[in-house]
Amino acid sequence: MTTLLLLSKLGRSFIRPWCPAFPKAQPWFSKSSTAEVTLENGTASGNLYAPLQTFTEEEIMMKETVAKFAQERIAPLVRKMDEQSHMDESVIAGLFEQGLMGIEIEEQYGGPESTFFSSILVIEELAKVDPSVAVLCDIQNTLINTLLRKCGTEEQKRKYLPRLAKDMGYRGITCFIVDKDTEGLQVGKKEDKLGIRASSTCAVNFDNVKVPESNILGQLGHGYKYAIGMLNEGRIGIAAQMLGLAQGCFDNTIPYLKQRVQFGKRIYDFQGMQHQISQIATQLEAARLLTYNAARLKEAGRPFIKEACMAKYYTSEIAALTSAKCIEWMGGVGFTKDYPIEKYYRDSKIGSIYEGTSNIQLNTIAKLIDQGF
Ligand SMILES: Cc1cc2nc3c(=O)[nH]c(=O)nc-3n(C[C@H](O)[C@H](O)[C@H](O)COP(=O)(O)OP(=O)(O)OC[C@H]3O[C@@H](n4cnc5c(N)ncnc54)[C@H](O)[C@@H]3O)c2cc1C
Repeated sequence: MTTLLLLSKLGRSFIRPWCPAFPKAQPWFSKSSTAEVTLENGTASGNLYAPLQTFTEEEIMMKETVAKFAQERIAPLVRKMDEQSHMDESVIAGLFEQGLMGIEIEEQYGGPESTFFSSILVIEELAKVDPSVAVLCDIQNTLINTLLRKCGTEEQKRKYLPRLAKDMGYRGITCFIVDKDTEGLQVGKKEDKLGIRASSTCAVNFDNVKVPESNILGQLGHGYKYAIGMLNEGRIGIAAQMLGLAQGCFDNTIPYLKQRVQFGKRIYDFQGMQHQISQIATQLEAARLLTYNAARLKEAGRPFIKEACMAKYYTSEIAALTSAKCIEWMGGVGFTKDYPIEKYYRDSKIGSIYEGTSNIQLNTIAKLIDQGF
């Protein structure tokens, strides 16, 4: 509520709430670098490069706004949504209100026309609070919207992109568009899952579905190429989800270790604990740099497939390791539902499975290394 009030005070459209002052992406140096420095003059000097964790002002504002939205509108519902295996309608509505379901969609189609990297930061922030919500946002932004923006005809873009940016009606897309009420389309049984329970997973059955030619997306017969292409980008989204999950879990654990006393010392003060915490924090930092680097490479139009696979593979490993370690560090209470840690642990497992299992990421990395020599 506070976020929305703040936005209405700023008098800006909800669709781009994180960016009250900057209609387009700014150079990627933040205020914390030198104010005059831009990417161009920085690199031209030959000795000044932006660290990967340098954000534009738009990105900083967006990160803060989404973090606030997640705390205020999602956090109170996380437990209920997990137990009921159901995403609360107010969360979905909130994602649309905040413009988070069509981040890169161009202004002419009703979107905020922000960047791919912004999507990655949004997914990370949401996953810190609930990875189920993060994956909903991830799939829509990095797969569905991207496919339509890249392959859709002008007419398809005009018809569907505004609805994807603002509506709550979901449309299934492969290499053609199928409206939800199409005859023969049936959403199958909802899976009862270990983790990301609020995000529903169902088979979709197509029984003699007829699709008009105008709904074909891109070129006939190119569907596989499009799907694989989208998955390459999508993997950076999953990396961001796993990164946010790991960071959220870590952030929820450290305060407890500083507060709990055993054998006359805070748990945090035992050297055996500190070494483990430092190792995980280092791995988390490495996972963040891999993810941001893959996203920046993609955005710069440079080859990124190997780096995207590495980011997804590594962050999935680190998310599983971090959440397992956090449970151990918290002792018995970490194993209970009194704390959110066990949920992060359950949610982490999906990272090494969907959008290509870890083995498939490793296959691709190896193939690209092979091609490089
Ligand atoms: C929660 C959830 C959401 C999902 N969402 C979607 C979705 O939105 N859209 C969608 O299309 N799919 C979705 N999936 C499906 C998901 O992408 C697949 O489950 C995943 O790609 C693995 O495929 P599989 O289950 O057939 O496993 P299998 O292919 O049977 O793999 C089993 C094991 O064998 C290994 N393996 C298989 N082939 C090889 C190989 N060539 N080399 C080495 N190891 C190999 C795998 O790594 C894995 O460990 C979802 C799954 C889940 C659980």
